[in-house]
Amino acid sequence: CREFHAVVLGAGGVGKSCLTAQFVHQEWIENYDPTIEDTYRTQLTVDGRQVMLEILDTAGADQFVAMRDLYMKTGQGFLLVFSITSRSSFDELVSLREDIIRIKDDENIPIVIVGNKADLVDQRQVDRARAFAISQQWQAPYYESSARTRTNVDEVFIDLCRQMLRR
Ligand code: GDP
Ligand code: MG
Repeated sequence: CREFHAVVLGAGGVGKSCLTAQFVHQEWIENYDPTIEDTYRTQLTVDGRQVMLEILDTAGADQFVAMRDLYMKTGQGFLLVFSITSRSSFDELVSLREDIIRIKDDENIPIVIVGNKADLVDQRQVDRARAFAISQQWQAPYYESSARTRTNVDEVFIDLCRQMLRR
């Protein structure tokens, strides 16, 4: 059984905790404490292979840059999450990815780009084409997910595991 460390990154309020809770516990938590940063362990099967996945659900408000550097160093795969209802949350991914690449010193680190809150189509601020352009540029897959309706929740974590298994 291989063990991997995944890190869920993104602006506050995009749904990192809801996505993680849906994946690990199959439950929808409407109001998650935004300051809580927690680690979850879950076992899953990816293409017939057993994987123990440790997921760090980050809370962003890290006063200590050293802490962030540390979990970026430990992380082997990253979910870069934004909300399709927030253009600024999408723009934040650029610097997050730069930090990951700088700290890992690796251009090919496993990344999945996640446009969450896909159920809120009427509030969309980031169109698919824009997200796909970044996805192509970074050569990282793009998914639109909804923690609320449990759409593409398993898919994003499984895709990340698949990338980590290939390394
Ligand atoms: P985090 O700060 O990134 O961890 O965000 P949270 O997981 O705490 O979610 C922030 C807010 O967005 C909460 O009010 C959630 O109920 C809401 N939320 C999270 N995911 C979704 C989603 O997929 N759809 C909708 N409609 N709301 C969501
Ligand atoms: Mg959170």
